[in-house]
Order: sequence, then structure tokens, then C-alpha cells
Amino acid sequence: MGFRDLGVFNQALLAKQCWCIIKKPDSLAAMVLKGCYFEDCSFMFDKMAACNDRIPTMFNLANWKVCVDGLCPNCKRSPEMTAHALWECSKLNVIRNECRFMEGMRCNDKVSFCTFFQSCLLRLNEEKVAIFCVILWRIWFIRNHGLFEDGGVLADSIYTWSGEFLSGFKAANEVGAAVLG
Ligand SMILES: [Zn+2]
Repeated sequence: MGFRDLGVFNQALLAKQCWCIIKKPDSLAAMVLKGCYFEDCSFMFDKMAACNDRIPTMFNLANWKVCVDGLCPNCKRSPEMTAHALWECSKLNVIRNECRFMEGMRCNDKVSFCTFFQSCLLRLNEEKVAIFCVILWRIWFIRNHGLFEDGGVLADSIYTWSGEFLSGFKAANEVGAAVLG
């Protein structure tokens, strides 16, 4: 595991711990974690906000004085802020409509993506949070694939791909848990 992987692993672990506190605040594990690390989850969310700002969207790159116009490379109409890139772009209409569990949950210009994501964490059950995270990951992957891999567009459905990925991931974890006993 490299340093980069370790950083991602630590963030995942932190997210998992905070998730435990949010979903089961009275559990023994949550009380121990709260006592040891967090008064509340603000620490976690501060960290998430910092991560959010570091995503190299065109808008952020323009703010960092990299020579880009800041516009979304997909719709070429709006500034590519994080919320736009991951959820609000007009080119993401299909996947937004496919995610029926996300109905009515949108991120407007007045709300940071971090705040929007926090509200999703609180409103969705664990299974839906998992699929939503895979979908966001896939959206960002496809956006980068379109930008850097000869502009080729991946035609497969984001929703279908994400569901299959998550099923495979769960199955692999179950096999791993069985092997480890
Ligand atoms: Zn766009």
C-alpha cells in the first residue's frame, strides 16, 4: 500500500467511524469513538470540506491560476464547481433520473457540495449511501476519461455499472471474511 493509498484508506476509515456515530450514536463503538476522537462530527466534516475544495475541477483549477476557463468540459455552459461536476451538470440528467432514491435532493449554488453530501448521509440508508458514493466516483471517472483518454465517451449506464460494482465488492468482502474466518 503506497502513501497515496494510505491517505485514501485513512479518509475511508475516518468516514466509516463518523458514519458509525451518525447512524448508531448510542452504540458502544460510537461512544468510544466520540470520547477518543470527536466531540461531534464537525471535525470529520471540516476535513471533508477541505477535500472538496481540492478536487481539480475546472473552476478550482482556474482559481489556482491554471490556464483554463473554469467551464464544465461536458456542457460547456456552467462553471465546473464540484457540485456541478459530480451531480448538477445537465449532462447528468439521465443518471440523476435513474437514482430515484435521490428524488428532490439537489445541490444549488448557495450550498457547498460538502453540505449537500452531509444531508444525503443523513437522509439515505446505508445501502443507498453506498450506491450513491460509487455513482459519484464513476461520474468523476467518466468525466476524466472523456477529458484525458482521447475524448472517448463510455457508453455503459452509470447506474447499472455502479450497482454491479457494488454487488461484486460486497461478494468479494463476504468471501474475504469467510476465508479469514
Ligand atoms: Zn456541465
